[in-house]
Amino acid sequence: MLGREAGTLGNVKGTNYIAAEAAKLGLRPAGDSGTFFQTVPLVLHRPDPASKLIANGTPLILGRDYVVLPSFGGLFGASFEASGTPVIYAGRLGDSAENLSPDLTAGKIVVFDAPLGPDGRPSGQLRGRAALARYSNAAAIAIAVLDYLPPAMGRRLSQPQTEVAGTDAPAASRPLGLLITRRAATQMLGAPFNSLQAGSLGQTISASVRMLDTPTLAPARNVVAIYPGSDPAVAGEYVAIGAHNDHLGIDDHASDHDSARAALIERWRMRGLDPEGPMPTPAQIAAMHIDVDSLHHIHQARRDSIFNGADDDGSGSVSALEIAQQFVRAPDHPRRSILFVWHTGEEKGLLGSQYFTDHPTVSRDSIVAQLNMDMVGRGDSADIKGGGPRYLELVGSRRLSTELGDLVEAVNKTEPMPFVFDYQFDANGHPENIYCRSDHYEYARYGIPIVFFTTGLHEDYHQITDEPQYIDYDHMARVDRLVYDIALKLADLDHRVVVDKPTPDPHGQCRQ
Ligand SMILES: [Zn+2]
Repeated sequence: MLGREAGTLGNVKGTNYIAAEAAKLGLRPAGDSGTFFQTVPLVLHRPDPASKLIANGTPLILGRDYVVLPSFGGLFGASFEASGTPVIYAGRLGDSAENLSPDLTAGKIVVFDAPLGPDGRPSGQLRGRAALARYSNAAAIAIAVLDYLPPAMGRRLSQPQTEVAGTDAPAASRPLGLLITRRAATQMLGAPFNSLQAGSLGQTISASVRMLDTPTLAPARNVVAIYPGSDPAVAGEYVAIGAHNDHLGIDDHASDHDSARAALIERWRMRGLDPEGPMPTPAQIAAMHIDVDSLHHIHQARRDSIFNGADDDGSGSVSALEIAQQFVRAPDHPRRSILFVWHTGEEKGLLGSQYFTDHPTVSRDSIVAQLNMDMVGRGDSADIKGGGPRYLELVGSRRLSTELGDLVEAVNKTEPMPFVFDYQFDANGHPENIYCRSDHYEYARYGIPIVFFTTGLHEDYHQITDEPQYIDYDHMARVDRLVYDIALKLADLDHRVVVDKPTPDPHGQCRQ
């Protein structure tokens, strides 16, 4: 299925499969107009190739002299029209000593020198968000990062961004964000940085730079299905079970599976099985190459470019189907209904779950809790620190409802082989930010209590080597059984699980 990227044919095939299985099980379709599908209107957001940017008569070239930055959550806008518009130099990005007064920058093109990294050298990392927000009345903000744009960087930043149609509308009044070369900066300012002070005026600019939105090649779809509850008094309430049906698609180059896998295992081991662990040194990387020859003696290179995403999130998607099957054939009929949602566009920034929770196909208030599974097929001792047959990471289970967190613990104790829950990734401010990184958060932002289940990150995460032969099916089946038992318990409670914690602003920034 070609890596199931949202908005491509592979994702259509993947979602057709899920819907066909749901139909076979006799689940009730709960998408658009009586189908299992809710179409999410995704668009590709990219710079218009006809864009023009002319500094004092000299045309600058899109992709060579400048690229358009993504919106960064509404910080930057989507278009920039200028004619005789002045340029102003604002000093080094992130240096608050050089802050200009916003009335000096209103309607102008604000040019920054590159921010400095922790090593004191100019950095390609975009820091200084606060400084950028300060100049929200500018016509455009241009950041000079490098002497030239490496072709790969130009290509990557010129790649279309996938977004939900219409979500960028409020950004119309925002300044357009540009990344420019130092040469382009000199042309725009009329002089090199070292001869200028913050506040110096440069050349005038004529420009017409626009982002274009075009629909994705194929539709992107959430799959939505219901197993109806048995008690008419509460069958209109839902326990939601979710996973994501998309993954990363196809890589832009092919690699040998065995070499890649050997190197990934080695690198992961060197990092102490820890996503925050230190990166291997160049000497360690060189040492890995010794293995490649021996691998090539065993068999020829098996080149692959498809991100199969067996664990991410093939595991959660098929787990939700297995749980649905268990509801259908088990003798106990839950009082509340069970809502299954296989979200699209998770890998593009939780787009399918954002759309579903903004436009739910059942009333939003009727969803009593959401149980999200993303990457539930690994978690052994070579994958993650503390891993093993009883390993399971939980995130968010007490963030809105203490009762939900307690219920999960209580149900786990009744399992034939209870898990030992790893809550470390649920800590406030944890650098991996897992609470904000999968579909459950889109429910939590509306005050719906959630539990996120995962067997955690591992060496094959977001690599072409995330393949089914590395899934631990027994472990995964026990996760599925636990999620089933929790869902059944929630569905049968004599009350809605109680929300006793403050609920976030649905349109604010997620904070773990
Ligand atoms: Zn995922």
